[in-house]
Amino acid sequence: MHNHCINKLLNLEDVIVKKIVHADSSVKVFLETKPTEQICPCCKNPTKQIHDYRYQTIKDLPLQEKNCYLVLKKRRYRCSCGKRFLETYSFLPRYFQRTTRLTAFIASKLHDTTNLSSVADRANVSPYTVGRILDSISFERPTLGEAISIDEFKGNANSEKYQCIIVDPIKHRVLDIIPDRKQATLAHYFYSIPKKERYRVKYFCCDMWQQYVDLAKIYFPNAQIITDKYHFIRQTSWAIENIRIRLQKTMSANLRKYYKRSHSLILQRYSTLNKEQKEACDLMLLYNDDLRKAHYLKEKFFDICHNPKYSEQRIDFFDWIKEAESSGIEEFEKCAATYRHWSKEILNAFKYKFISNGPTEGFNNKIKVLKRISYGIRNFKRFRTRILLVTN
Ligand SMILES: [Zn+2]
Repeated sequence: MHNHCINKLLNLEDVIVKKIVHADSSVKVFLETKPTEQICPCCKNPTKQIHDYRYQTIKDLPLQEKNCYLVLKKRRYRCSCGKRFLETYSFLPRYFQRTTRLTAFIASKLHDTTNLSSVADRANVSPYTVGRILDSISFERPTLGEAISIDEFKGNANSEKYQCIIVDPIKHRVLDIIPDRKQATLAHYFYSIPKKERYRVKYFCCDMWQQYVDLAKIYFPNAQIITDKYHFIRQTSWAIENIRIRLQKTMSANLRKYYKRSHSLILQRYSTLNKEQKEACDLMLLYNDDLRKAHYLKEKFFDICHNPKYSEQRIDFFDWIKEAESSGIEEFEKCAATYRHWSKEILNAFKYKFISNGPTEGFNNKIKVLKRISYGIRNFKRFRTRILLVTN
């Protein structure tokens, strides 16, 4: 093969390939460069005087699925000022033992949901090197859009159980990861965002945690605060689940087993059940007045949530609260009290249907996978960078 073809194949500029040696698991490519006039780094005068040569072995991208080493015959020049200096190469940063493109390859692999060891294996470097490349990547927070949503997840990084994830729910993008969910940490973080940017935010979506709402009111004064759908609907599901569990305790062992096994029939939307399931569900509800009433309230609440008309939702929602409050069922009275307390934010969820923590759930699943395959990432900074790389 002509040398320029080999060069094309290797995609390295201005090198002369002297020989290529294949071993079972590696390829060695022996290279040198043409001598050229050099500028002395000391006195800035040109020189062509060659002092000596030395060989350096450099790791490069895998070639034909083998580890690839470039054996470079490095030239040292001598200047009239007495300075001796090495030639520079476009593909090799000074003092490095791997090519620029191998570093870029490793950095690109960090976008995949894989752990550092497997990236290291693929690139024929140590996990330590991959870690250092990861540390060198800094991820700047992108500019805020019209909406943000915040939620926590169990990350266990830097000995904090929970980390916060901030997402743009409209653009479906992870904006940042916060080391914990403490008020002071979050306040400090939001405060660091320029006022102009924060004041542009129109929607702030979160769960029913007072702290988030308090922060939103201070730092995002122009935003509508929205309770995430999943988080408030869950209250109704919990209420009916708790009733079932309460009732089960008074049942015979056989009946208890049956209710436990079939509990999802009560939780699922009645209209999605098949004929057989509907009959089984009816039978379960027949047994107890509380459960039957609870099921009716649950179905009604789900109907309200799915109604596309906000004006109707608003009226039905308050009617529902009244009905639940006077239901005589403790679990639903409690649920109604929560809904009344959060009514403004829940109604906002009905009003601004396009905003929810839904996208966050998807990202949280990716984080879970990342955590599992990395055997937990203890170092928060690395964890944050990995999440941002994997999700963006
Ligand atoms: Zn010089």
